[in-house]
Amino acid sequence: DREVGHADRDRLMALVTAEDTGPARPDYRDLAAYRAEGGYVQLDRIRNGTLTVEGVIAELKDSCLRGLGGAGFVTGKKWELVRQNPGPRLMTVNADEGEPGTFKDRYHMERNPHAMLEGALIGAHCVEAERIYIYMRAEYPAATEIVRREIRALEEARLIDPGYIELRRGAGAYICGEESAMVESIEGNRGLPRLRPPFIGQVGLFGRPTLNNNVETLYWVPKILEKGIDWFRDLGKPDYPGLRSWSVSGRVRNPGVVQAPAGSTANELIEACGGMADGRSFKAFLPGGASGGLLPADRGDVPLDFGGALAKLDAFVGSHAVVIFSDVDNMKDVVLNLIDFFTHESCGQCTPCRGGTQKMAQLLRRDHLDEDAIRDLEQVMRDASICGLGQAAPNPVNHLLTYFRGDL
Ligand code: SF4
Repeated sequence: DREVGHADRDRLMALVTAEDTGPARPDYRDLAAYRAEGGYVQLDRIRNGTLTVEGVIAELKDSCLRGLGGAGFVTGKKWELVRQNPGPRLMTVNADEGEPGTFKDRYHMERNPHAMLEGALIGAHCVEAERIYIYMRAEYPAATEIVRREIRALEEARLIDPGYIELRRGAGAYICGEESAMVESIEGNRGLPRLRPPFIGQVGLFGRPTLNNNVETLYWVPKILEKGIDWFRDLGKPDYPGLRSWSVSGRVRNPGVVQAPAGSTANELIEACGGMADGRSFKAFLPGGASGGLLPADRGDVPLDFGGALAKLDAFVGSHAVVIFSDVDNMKDVVLNLIDFFTHESCGQCTPCRGGTQKMAQLLRRDHLDEDAIRDLEQVMRDASICGLGQAAPNPVNHLLTYFRGDL
């Protein structure tokens, strides 16, 4: 619902659809409203053979749509790989959205749940999934109710068989947003990430090849099939195809979800949010929630996307949650807050993460800075943790030592 902070603002504003600036909950688009605007036409086309599965996968690959839960894997490629594994197969939709500072999936589910549901049904058709499980963040009661209601509407309209889409609620654990821990949780087990390989596309939920996609990734699928590859690619910047939903928070005047091109910069996103909050000057930002690192304001013109310039700074964009800090914020306090979060949310399965996060917090709280010990621990956590939580937890610590020594 926000202006796009970008040199081509007018062009982009024209491209942001009525849906994206549509009513907030509870006046979300229900099934009738969604169908009145051409909803489920793409699902019909693929079900009646007008669109082939191979054609859909090729279009998604060419569109450069990537996994927007944080990993950035090419969506069409993922669907193709899952299809190559022998059935029966299943599908999961990751609506757990636990990365700090991320709220764009909630935004989409509370405004237009059927875009995600149609995308999921198209994905399930492509991999011939026998059932779809939506894993919903426990802290999203409104989204849960809306999605539950609209699944029922799909059943009543006979667009799906009763029980074909099952809604499962998480219980508030950050780690259950990690896909293999999510699969464990849906199976009724404790949410512990699995060792890989095998990946869940090979051996996933209930031992079956499983296609897992994030809410926003699926949200774009019907639009890309309707409006075409070039439409989607051109919404991005040169070398950064596609539009993304950014969760922007912190010391900006109007925090919220901003739809802006892939490769947008922190400075552009601040501008899109009406500038810095009154009396505040830009000091630093998290480019990708708690996990993606902590960069100084002089990197505010770095394009934010998977890999590229951000990777060279040992940072990543992840779920596109950009948190802005100002002159009144101390970066050591910020990093301690993040490390305490990781300590709390570590599943405890492996020592480098379980013990490493606690030890890192202790080292940072000491009066004397033992940089050798911190760097050593950082390396062990990166090399030896089982999953992304332990591997990424040292990212903000690395940047604290690199860029913000004055705050130590
Ligand atoms: Fe659990 Fe942390 Fe190990 Fe991941 S890295 S499996 S969260 S202990």
